Parts: sequence; C-alpha cells; structure tokens
Amino acid sequence: MKVLSVASELYPLIKTGGLADVAGALPLAMGQHGVEMRSLLPGYPAVMKKIGKTKKVASIPSLFGVKAAVLFAVHEGLELYVLDAPAFFQRDGGPYTDALGRDHVDNWKRFAALSLAAAEIAAGLIPSWKPDLVHAHDWQAGLVPVYMRFGRAPETPSVMTVHNIAFQGQFSPVIFPELALPPEAFSMDCVEYYGDVGFLKGGLQVASAITTVSPTYAREIFQPEFGMGLEGLVQARAGHVSGIVNGIDTAVWNPATDPLVAAPFSAKQLARRGASRQAVMRHFGLDGDGPIFCIISRLTWQKGMDLLAEVAGDIVAQGGMLAVLGSGDRALEGALVQAASHHKGRIGVHIGYDEPLSHTMQAGSDAILIPSRFEPCGLTQLYALRYGCIPVVARTGGLADTVIDANAAAIAAGVATGFQFSTITADGLRQALARVFEVWRDPETWRQMQKNGMKSDVSWDKSAAAYAGLYTRLLSKGQ
Ligand code: ADP
Repeated sequence: MKVLSVASELYPLIKTGGLADVAGALPLAMGQHGVEMRSLLPGYPAVMKKIGKTKKVASIPSLFGVKAAVLFAVHEGLELYVLDAPAFFQRDGGPYTDALGRDHVDNWKRFAALSLAAAEIAAGLIPSWKPDLVHAHDWQAGLVPVYMRFGRAPETPSVMTVHNIAFQGQFSPVIFPELALPPEAFSMDCVEYYGDVGFLKGGLQVASAITTVSPTYAREIFQPEFGMGLEGLVQARAGHVSGIVNGIDTAVWNPATDPLVAAPFSAKQLARRGASRQAVMRHFGLDGDGPIFCIISRLTWQKGMDLLAEVAGDIVAQGGMLAVLGSGDRALEGALVQAASHHKGRIGVHIGYDEPLSHTMQAGSDAILIPSRFEPCGLTQLYALRYGCIPVVARTGGLADTVIDANAAAIAAGVATGFQFSTITADGLRQALARVFEVWRDPETWRQMQKNGMKSDVSWDKSAAAYAGLYTRLLSKGQ
C-alpha cells in the first residue's frame, strides 16, 4: 500500500514542535506494516541544505502563479518529496514566521500550494508513484482532502490528523477566489467557517477519516472547552473520529546509545544519570542536592507556563531546583527569567530552542513538569519515561493516556510511572509537587518508578498497526 503523508515540518530536516517528530517517525514505523509511506514537505532553506542529492520528478509551471518542482530524495531512511517553490519557501526565519517572528502574510497561499501539490500527486503527477491514500497533518495540510475531493482525486481516501485543534488556519473570505476551488467549496459542508475560510475545518469536513493523537483528546474535542469551535463538526462526524496515541523514535531517543547523553545508561545503571545531572547543573548554574525539575516546552498558556511561574518559588522552598528550556510568550519568558534572578543557583532558564540540550535534560533531570491545560498527545513525557525522568503531568489528552499516576494502589502494584493532577491550577500543581517530594524522600519507590517508566512501551509499534488497520479499512470501503 502506498501512502503519501503531507506535513509542514519533519524531523530531522525542520522542526518547531511535536508534529515534526511524528511526521519523521511514522513513515519508518509504517514500513513494518506493509505501508510504503512517502512524505511531501516544503523546500525551506534548512530542508534544501540538508537533503543532499535530489531528483526532479515533476514540474509545476504555475502553482498559484509560482514556478514549482517536486524533488525526490532519501534522507536517513525517509523517502521524501520536497516541494521546491522558492517564491514560497526560500525565506529567512522559521517555517511560518519571518526573521522577526511575525507570521508570513501569505501563509494561506504557501500552505494551499503545499496542499494542492499533494492533491496533484494523489491524482498522478508522478506517474511512477501514485498513492493509494493520502494522510494530511494539521491545518497546513488541511486543504489536501478538499483539493482531492474537488476534482483531483475524488476516489482516493484521505486521513486528516489533528495534532492540535487550537491551530486551525482561519483566513479572511477574500482569499477564497484565489484558492482555485469551485464556488460550492465555500459552504458549511466544506471550507466556510463562520464566514471565513477554515483550512483545518475544510479538511475535517471532507476527509474520509479524522484522527487525533490520543484517545482522550479524541473524546475531549467533542466538548466546547477543547473543540475550539469545531466541536459541532466533530460531533457530526463522530463515526469517523478516532484517537491513536503517538509513539517516539526509540532509535533517536535511546538513553543507552544516545551520543548527546554524558554517560549513556539503561534501567539497570541509573547511577550513570549522575553525569548528565552534573551537565544540567553546569548549564543552568544550579547548586543543590534536591530533585531537578525540568521544562522543555513552548512557553505558552496552553502549556500552563503561567502556573509554573506561580509555583517556581515553592519548588525552591521545598529544596528542589528548576531548569527551564523554551521560548514563546514574551511575558511568560520574562516571568521565568525573573524567577531565575530571584533564585540564583536554584532556578535556571534558557530561552531558545536547543535539541541537544533537551536530550541532556531528559537524561539528567529527576522529573519533568507538564502542567498543560490541554495536550493532544505530548511527546516530552514519552521521552522522559524512556530516560528515567519522572513526568508530572496535568490529567488531559495524551498525558492522561501515557502516564500511570503514583496513587497508593499503583505504587503497591509496582506500575506507577509518574504523577497526574486533574485540577489544572497553581494549587493543583502545588499539591502534585507535594506528592512528588514525598516520593522523592523514598528513594526505593522513586527508582522503581523510573524503572517502570523506562520499561513502558513508548514505541510506534502498536500505533503504527492501528494506522495500518485504519488505512486498510478505508481502502476496502473506497471513499
Ligand atoms: P508541541 O508540539 O505542542 O509543542 P510536544 O510535546 O508534542 O509539544 O512536542 C514538542 C517537541 O519539541 C518535543 O520533541 C520537545 O522535546 C521539543 N521541544 C520543545 N521546546 C523545545 C526547546 N526549547 N528546545 C528543544 N526542543 C524543544
């Protein structure tokens, strides 16, 4: 079975968040389930620089008035189609923003172009490789099912995966005439969304199946607090919605072989984590012998970083240390930097994005704090489990599905892997921290929890099988 995956970022070529990790790991995992998955992504400068040798497999003389080509490349086992459209993608800054962090004003056109190119591939643009099914990720690929339905490949099934329903790609209706869609696509049954154009909305409306990245989040998006305006659509399509939890690339994230870890270790050699602990303390200027709590995150309201800023002092008061790696909301960055200056030697903050440092922190911290208000899946708790860093998480979305709370019964049964809290407030987080410190004072239980986490299955095996099952069902049904 041939499946085209379409995403706006893909690790290890370009990454701003969890979407890239999933887009990079899923194709490799699907290979073991009889699925030949190739990925289409934009030819950003970072991608063009890293991919090396390419072969031009198609030319598109005018993609929204821009000259484009599709290049084929193989990179670290991934089979890639790169949309080389310099006028759209050869720019300074990140995938979505300019060098000053402002959204590109033509993002709608850049990602409509990505989606249209995907639909053209579905329709046979590359004669030697015509996919049986197309799997689109997030709003940037939201128009893929729409372009397929309206002419390009109406019989080919599509899957629309929501990695975060908060990001919807909603634009003014003035762009609609430029989208090269027939007028009937601007309707409630397709891209029209409260008078605007909704990229994700259109994809969810017409895709053969909708998935999201954990079973709990799949249930949560039926409710207004989580559905962000799309709950009605999700309810109407309930029979087509399912949740498949993300796995992680266990080759990249393996504490026993990770070249970024000061002293690689297994569950039987937890003492070796000490070398990474020293590295974290050095990097963040920490000094103490209590537990190190880390944060590796976008610093936003979604991630509960305002709650963290409120409790940072309490962590120090109880003898803990805090190491924060992230960037995002300027006010939250400022609040955390200020906390660090009040608590020198106990709180360290690194504003920025640093993939190698994130590995060191997972290997050398004692616990990771993830107080998200909503979390479709979350990947950092999965890396933490594998690295013996105990996750302390809000009970929501994929966090609820992947961490086993250290209640008395789970501890007695020897299965606890972390701490969950369900009142997602500063006080809820404080209460969870009180439980964490209590277990910290019982090193045997703490070590047992680390080992339980390191043994838990965070690989793609089960989830890749679930995607393969979904693809097979869609193909046997037809559109
Ligand atoms: P989201 O995609 O919502 O940001 P996830 O937990 O699903 O959250 O994925 C975040 C990914 O980005 C993880 O791989 C995490 O390690 C990584 N990450 C987040 N912030 C940073 C940072 N500042 N430096 C390095 N890696 C980061």
